Amino acid sequence: MKRIYMDHAATTSMDVEVVKAMEPYFTLKYGNPNSIHSFGQEAREAVEEARGKIAYLICANPAEIIFTAGGTEADNYAIKGIAWANQKKGNHIITSKIEHHAVLHSCQFLEKQGFKVTYLPVDKYGLIDLEDVKKAITDKTILVTIMHANNEIGTIEPIKEIGKVVKDAGVYFHIDSVQTTGHIPIDVNDLGVDMLSMSGHKFYGPNGVGVLYLRKETKIINLIDGGAQEKNRRSGTENVAGIVGLGKAAELAEKRLAEGTEDRVVKLRDKLIKGITDKIENVRLNGHPTNRLPGNANLCFEFIEGESMLLSLDMEGVAASSGSACTSGSLKASHVLLAIGLPPEIAHGSLRLTLGKDNTEEEIDYVIDILPGIIEKLRALSPFKRNWEGLK
Ligand code: PLP
Repeated sequence: MKRIYMDHAATTSMDVEVVKAMEPYFTLKYGNPNSIHSFGQEAREAVEEARGKIAYLICANPAEIIFTAGGTEADNYAIKGIAWANQKKGNHIITSKIEHHAVLHSCQFLEKQGFKVTYLPVDKYGLIDLEDVKKAITDKTILVTIMHANNEIGTIEPIKEIGKVVKDAGVYFHIDSVQTTGHIPIDVNDLGVDMLSMSGHKFYGPNGVGVLYLRKETKIINLIDGGAQEKNRRSGTENVAGIVGLGKAAELAEKRLAEGTEDRVVKLRDKLIKGITDKIENVRLNGHPTNRLPGNANLCFEFIEGESMLLSLDMEGVAASSGSACTSGSLKASHVLLAIGLPPEIAHGSLRLTLGKDNTEEEIDYVIDILPGIIEKLRALSPFKRNWEGLK
């Protein structure tokens, strides 16, 4: 059976060119970039070249790029680092109810230490209201942290507009761009952000390596102390192969953005959404209809449960997700779907299909073809439907 991967928001395959670029740094070019000898210098050059490519992708200065062990670490660094460095100024942080757990749990951790956190609501599409941001800012606010796009429902937030409000208030602004980097154009100056998190494995780079973009003169405390690497902002011997891979992924993403690859993904996504919603009843699209990540289709099917859809799709060779990978396995309805106003019984019936650069039109047709039968079978077995019909 052919296997079809539609879970790119969870992770992407590494581009073959990324693997090729990384390989010598496991075998021939294994120096420690902090060593003075030629092996060390060779590794240092590779790290700095990658830093330049990543900076270029987001229109930053290479000196503002700090390598981390992924998006989760970058989020933790930005939030806890700003909070602890600016305690004298204030103790208030603003975020939203639909953030990734890397952000939400960092904020909850700080609440236990006495920080105050405002969790902004979102509308039915998952959008944050600018007026809510304005109203939430006080003279104690030190940080606003908002995701660029949501990993579950794909909605892209009005970051530039929020950035202006936050800047006018003289507050630090962090965005979690783990889902957007490499998929939509990013200019940190145009967006007005002080910090940005990204992760290699979401745009065809390696797992376990990411970046915190930190605008010059942003006051932050180190979370990891040691040998003073990364200009003493994040210690630890650099993951040279991973960083080289991330740099290559950034270079390829830049090329794809210029060539319009993501526009092709948008077309496939829209065909998939239309095909499913035309053919199946009692289904709703979650997230903003147009202002959404190129590859994201998130739908709720009434009367059935997400996990059973995933298992049925998997048996037909299709890999998808319900909610985010980090929360699947838990029986709680997605916090994102609850925040956009869905009742828990509907939120439980969510399916996230996230497309990538290698998905084909035939694969889209295949899913549109098999899904109605799967839904029909599951609905026939569903106890929810019987209960709800009984209530009518
Ligand atoms: N933030 C968002 C929006 C994500 O989607 C993810 C991963 O799914 C992360 C942060 C965490 O990134 P990483 O897997 O690199 O730790």
